[in-house]
Amino acid sequence: MQAKGQIGNLDLVKKINMEHIINTILKYRPISRAKIASITGLNKMTVSSCVDLLLQKGIVVELGTTGTSRGRPPTLVDINELAGICVGVDIEINQFTLLITDLLGKKLESMIFPVNNKNPAYFVNTISGILADLKKTHSHRQLGIVGVGIVIQGYYNIRTDAVDYSANLQEWIDFPLLSELTKQIPDIPIYINPAPYAGALGEVHFGRSKSVDHLVYVTSSWGLSVGVYNNGELFTGTTGTAGRLGHSTIHMNGKKCSCGSRGCWEMYASIKALYDLLESTPQQLSFTEIVDSLHAGDSKVTSAVHELGHYQGIGLANVINAYNPRVICIGGLLALLGPKLINSIWNTLNEMIPERFLRNVEIYCSDLGELGVAHGGVSMVIGQLSNTIIHYSLLE
Ligand SMILES: [Zn+2]
Repeated sequence: MQAKGQIGNLDLVKKINMEHIINTILKYRPISRAKIASITGLNKMTVSSCVDLLLQKGIVVELGTTGTSRGRPPTLVDINELAGICVGVDIEINQFTLLITDLLGKKLESMIFPVNNKNPAYFVNTISGILADLKKTHSHRQLGIVGVGIVIQGYYNIRTDAVDYSANLQEWIDFPLLSELTKQIPDIPIYINPAPYAGALGEVHFGRSKSVDHLVYVTSSWGLSVGVYNNGELFTGTTGTAGRLGHSTIHMNGKKCSCGSRGCWEMYASIKALYDLLESTPQQLSFTEIVDSLHAGDSKVTSAVHELGHYQGIGLANVINAYNPRVICIGGLLALLGPKLINSIWNTLNEMIPERFLRNVEIYCSDLGELGVAHGGVSMVIGQLSNTIIHYSLLE
């Protein structure tokens, strides 16, 4: 029994060492074995045997030498980014978008699939078929599909592993999405997050705020919600519904909201609110037309965006007081309103919050465009990459 325990511990130590080494290569790539040893504090033998295993498995490659040191220059090691693919899936009401990247998140291709069926089982069957095809297409890669990050409209209960709530896809509520997908595609790791959480992850990994520690992502389609990223992790709350700030009250006796309350932030600062201000609907006026009119200086649209920005500012004052973020990133359709929205937000914040609490805050619109949330799906996969590589490398 004792011998068994020792083997278990050795395996654990080996995995922990491998994780350090892989994370160091990912962070400092390309890098020499000696440098990996000095950063991780592991001895050179341990580093070399791990790197040799990764080389043998095709996960890393040797790139030649640094040419900077005297004597025999060290060989640099890098991740073989083509050893596998990451997939991000953004599920919307009428379509879902797939983003396929290499292991380092570089886009290989994206695809949009129109959907006219709101049944979640239909989605499971369709996406399983697409992933099976992708798996065949990429079977020459050592790791194949390393994971799929799925972004849902609504919230996912991290305790019950079922969709908790979706305002626009009521059919999905209580659907055990992860277990149903796992039944169809048991050998591909799957991760699920709501759109505002994925937006925050996408921004931290791919956007202007790479490596920032504290970020709040604000997104609005018809409603409004936020994703909070803090020191490397998403703030999920107990069940995974943290960030429903669109339903925080900003007017005690304000407009009636679909949640049953009154005066919710999203009634004044969402895309729906913008359409209300313009006394129009998406059927009468597309969002692209609104953005074009704004850039052309149309006075009605400019005034509506200014008012929307004022109400955004009121809600964001609450966000700043609650979370003390370094960055607030405006994502989704709101991001297309650009600097005019941001200026109005700042006007309101400067009136509401003392300067000392604002001086370290940066607010901007995301540059990631319509693939922003799908990038978040890829981020979920890349966040687990070292574990996936270890699992594969230790297979006989
Ligand atoms: Zn509400």
